[in-house]
Formats: sequence, structure tokens, C-alpha cells
Amino acid sequence: MAGFHAAASLQRPGPEGGPACEAMPMAVPNPLARAQYLLAAHNFRQLPPDGGFEVAFAGRSNAGKSSALNALCQQNALARVSKTPGRTQQLVFFDIPPTTDRFLVDLPGYGYAKVPQDLQAHWQAFLDGYFGSRQALRGLVVVMDIRHPLKDYDRQMLGYAVQRGLPAHALLTKADKLSRGAQGNALLAVRRELSSAFGDTVSVQTFSGESKLGVEEARAVVARWLEL
Ligand code: GDP
Repeated sequence: MAGFHAAASLQRPGPEGGPACEAMPMAVPNPLARAQYLLAAHNFRQLPPDGGFEVAFAGRSNAGKSSALNALCQQNALARVSKTPGRTQQLVFFDIPPTTDRFLVDLPGYGYAKVPQDLQAHWQAFLDGYFGSRQALRGLVVVMDIRHPLKDYDRQMLGYAVQRGLPAHALLTKADKLSRGAQGNALLAVRRELSSAFGDTVSVQTFSGESKLGVEEARAVVARWLEL
């Protein structure tokens, strides 16, 4: 009972005689937790109106992009929709109620160079056009396995953002698979390479969808770009 009274003494009365609230540190609210599937687009006509703010997510297949999106949004299955047949070749949009003009955009996990011949021209035009002209695009997150960073696809996507003058943020995910020392070494090596290839517009951090390492740092970047 002594424990109960000690806990009770930490409580303040709620407003207007409402329920008491505990004097615990406030958890930072996560605006991305409200993200929900909106649509999948295979061409420009299917994109939502270009009047808001959006952040695109790119990553090679199996890099850990879905797990990263789920961790950022504190949802277990949000990004599963991007993996359903047909959608792997589409831009998948998630909106963030109650806003109607803030989007997370899940890009397909391969560059147009890897797409079968007949889709190549379509994808080249679509991705070039999307990165080149989409006014709502505020930044790019590139998800890379910390053990296999900066492959051609990653450089291609980062190049798109940098050419357009947009900031990019790299997540070195699956960091839980490496020791702390190896994580630090990988981070330094990637930071050095990014800086020589792209200048100072690309930031980088370690991340894990599994252990949740770095989730708040990454979420803060995305929320800032979306002005949430
Ligand atoms: P995607 O194809 O890029 O969307 O990759 P997924 O998010 O589906 O992840 C691919 C595989 O890597 C799955 O088996 C995940 O469980 C695993 N995975 C993803 N993120 C992490 C992580 O941070 N740590 C570990 N250990 N495994 C991860």
C-alpha cells in the first residue's frame, strides 16, 4: 500500500475536476502515427494534387524500407500494402489525417535500370518527371542496409534529390546486426562518401526497425520536412 500512496502523491488533479494525470515525462506525440494508405499511382494522372508537402522513401528491395516506414509510423502493417502484387511498380501514397495535403510516398525498390525493357521508358519518364517537377516533394529518405550501403540504386535516388536541390536523409538500417563499434565505422564511412559525392545536402544516421534505434531522430527529420 505504501507504494500505492507514493505513486498517488505524484498525481496532480486534472483540469476542471477531471481525472488526475500522472506527473510522468510526456511522450513526444508522433504525428506520423496517423498515416494511412491513400492511393497507388502508376502515372502522373493518378498522383494526388500537387499542392502540399510530401516525403519520398526509397530503398532497394529487402533493405528494410517497409520496416522503417512502419517504425516511423508506429504501425505494424502500414507498408505491407506497397508489397501487394501490382503495387511494386507504383508510387504508394499515405496521407496523414486530419491533414489532406501531407503525404509519405513509398517508391518502388528498384531503379528504372532494373525494370524489364518495356517498363523502362515508362519508369524513367515517370521517376524523372516526379523528382524533377513535383512541387510538393520536400525531401527524400533513402533506406540502406548498413552492411551494403550506397549501391547504384541508392546513388541514383540520391542524385535525383540533389539535382533538384532537395535535402536527403539516409537511414543505415538493420544496425542491430552490427556491434556499436562497427555501426560507428559504417556511419563515418558513408558520411564521408556522401559528402564527397553529394556535398552537405545529404544527412545520414544509424537506424533499426527491429530495436527502434534512431527512430525518433528519423521521425523528427520527416516531420520537419512535412511541417507537421
Ligand atoms: P523492404 O523490402 O525494403 O521493404 O524490406 P522489409 O522491411 O520487408 O525487410 C526485409 C527483411 O529485413 C525482413 O525480413 C525484415 O524483418 C528484416 N529487417 C528489416 N529491418 C530490420 C532491422 O532493422 N533489423 C533486422 N535485424 N532486420 C530487419
